[in-house]
Amino acid sequence: MIILKKVADLNKVVASIHKTGKSTGFVPTMGALHEGHLSLIEQSRKIADVTICSIFVNPTQFNDPEDLKKYPITTDQDITLLESAKVDYLFLPTVEEIYPKDSPKKHYDLGQIETVLEGAHRPGHFQGVAEVIDRLLTLIKPSYIIMGQKDFQQVKVVTKLIELIGSQTKLVTSPTHREQTGLALSSRNARLSQQELQQATAISKALLYGRQHIKDTDPRTLEQEMSSQLMAAGFGPIDYVAICHPNNLSPIQQYQTGMDVVILVAAFLGQVRLIDNMLI
Ligand code: AMP
Repeated sequence: MIILKKVADLNKVVASIHKTGKSTGFVPTMGALHEGHLSLIEQSRKIADVTICSIFVNPTQFNDPEDLKKYPITTDQDITLLESAKVDYLFLPTVEEIYPKDSPKKHYDLGQIETVLEGAHRPGHFQGVAEVIDRLLTLIKPSYIIMGQKDFQQVKVVTKLIELIGSQTKLVTSPTHREQTGLALSSRNARLSQQELQQATAISKALLYGRQHIKDTDPRTLEQEMSSQLMAAGFGPIDYVAICHPNNLSPIQQYQTGMDVVILVAAFLGQVRLIDNMLI
């Protein structure tokens, strides 16, 4: 695996790959890698000739400075994992490489998807996501960008961004990788104690409960029941439990058989904010 830290070096590599006509799969990450990230890499290796991964803890998408400060960094271990996953190139830039001092700040017109759920609880978060993905897509111009369903709303935002900037890159979504307990893998799980890791399984249990009862329970009542289950397991505050239409994340008013539904959860366990979702 070749590690690139400078945009200038990345540019040279990208130009030479494009000359060969090979397809490229790009997997953006913030590091502290786990099996979930590796499943995206596996997906990329299946569909593209060359896999490029990035590790960049993007400061502009953190609305909470404490969350940024505490974000786990395990670069040496990440490099070992990426090498064994047979990634071809790792882009590992500094903040200055991604955001040169003179670069103008853009605003992205992401529409209502930016303002609901995660957007409502983390103001500015999706502008930061759009900014970094725009920069990375412009530099790498990959054939595919592979992203996790774990960050459901982020996938919606990047879909919108690709349309806004007229990128030719195709977004591929990969399913959420879970522990046997049902807990969705997340870099933030590293901040949970053994006991909290047990408690955290309440999220996937509540999602399964939601899936089971969507047919016979009013959506708002079901959201309340799921929230109560999370509180009983020690979660709090709960930012949202939301039963939504997957296309625009507006709330489902009444479930009808065969309807596409996504249930999304964001809640704190101690100081750690966890998110998860389930498509029905
Ligand atoms: P992050 O490093 O948290 O920014 O995540 C980088 C990419 O990995 C994003 O596209 C996430 O959606 C994806 N990802 C994170 N956790 C998982 C998981 N448990 N399963 C599948 N993909 C994941």
